[in-house]
Amino acid sequence: MTKYAVALMEGDGIGPEVSAASVSVLNALKPGFGVEFDFRPSPAGDLCKKRTGQALPDSSLATIEGSDVCLKAPVGETAADVIVKIRQMLDLYANIRPSKTMPRVPSLKPAIDFVIVRENTECLYRGMEFEFEGGVVALRTITRKASERIAKHAFALVEQRKHSNKVVAVHKANVLRKSDGLFAQVCREVAVQHPSVSFSEMLVDAAAMNLIRDPESFDVIVTTNMYGDILSDEAAQLVGGLGLAPSGNIGEKFAIFEPVHGAAPDIAGKGIANPLAMILSTSMMLDWLSSRRGDHSCAQAAAAIRSAVNSTLEMGVVTPDIGGRSTTSEVGAAVAKLLTTGAQVNIPGPRSGASSEN
Ligand code: ATP
Repeated sequence: MTKYAVALMEGDGIGPEVSAASVSVLNALKPGFGVEFDFRPSPAGDLCKKRTGQALPDSSLATIEGSDVCLKAPVGETAADVIVKIRQMLDLYANIRPSKTMPRVPSLKPAIDFVIVRENTECLYRGMEFEFEGGVVALRTITRKASERIAKHAFALVEQRKHSNKVVAVHKANVLRKSDGLFAQVCREVAVQHPSVSFSEMLVDAAAMNLIRDPESFDVIVTTNMYGDILSDEAAQLVGGLGLAPSGNIGEKFAIFEPVHGAAPDIAGKGIANPLAMILSTSMMLDWLSSRRGDHSCAQAAAAIRSAVNSTLEMGVVTPDIGGRSTTSEVGAAVAKLLTTGAQVNIPGPRSGASSEN
């Protein structure tokens, strides 16, 4: 039995609710898959700032750095002081955001299956904003080093996926000639080293349009930080919304997995948040652990989680954002039950309204 230390950031808003569901799913893996977790609380975010004065206390950072991996729920207004900072501090340079048509979930097209590979450490998100002549200047950095490693990551991923073997680099080099010009140039250079992969380029405005017009034509999209942030919310919406969109922040030595969505204060505490984005993030986490540790049990567990999520969707055990009546914890329990027993889960009957989990 392998035990992994997982730094757990429960976050704000719906964070603790989707975290609890995800922990119940991971705990369900022990009997059947021989994978166990030591969850280490790593408080961060708005509530943490209120309590301790710091959005990301040193103690939480130490816990994260001392763990095998980190599983993070969304934080609220302090996101820039938490996840944006951690991505830069731990050099988690690749933000991986898959979008895939899921069973019985309304999708713009029936066979969407692509991944956005977003550069995660530079661009406009370095926070270099300065007051200047009655206005503000924001600095955008694009480096050869960061562009090259993200492009290499995208090409390695496309080869692993065995899908349509296509990488498209998204930029705006016709206007941002130097910064996006460098990004595009480096992507072209990396593409030359992968002659079997079909490589193309697309301006970011055209990409926003083509994601709606022909989403099935994409395989791997590689792009800079801000374009990736915006396009991945659009991408999530094509296949059922933010409640189903997982992600990973990957570096050379460490990784953090989190849902794409934010703290969703509008639905916090109501027990209706969709936990599947975070649950699917746990399957990405297990795949990463498997590839780093050579632990086949983790890969099997990751595949089992995806399969249990699909079965849960097929059975209609879903939250209101995708047309169901189930609560956050019911969805988590349904996935966990399928993992432990493979048994069918009762579809909950009609409810008069959303029920609170508290
Ligand atoms: P951020 O700026 O951190 O991304 P936001 O408020 O702009 O935060 P989200 O918190 O992601 O964006 O929420 C956007 C919308 O999507 C809200 O209406 C929210 O209720 C909905 N939403 C987000 N996550 C979920 C979820 N897991 N389940 C159901 N609805 C969700």
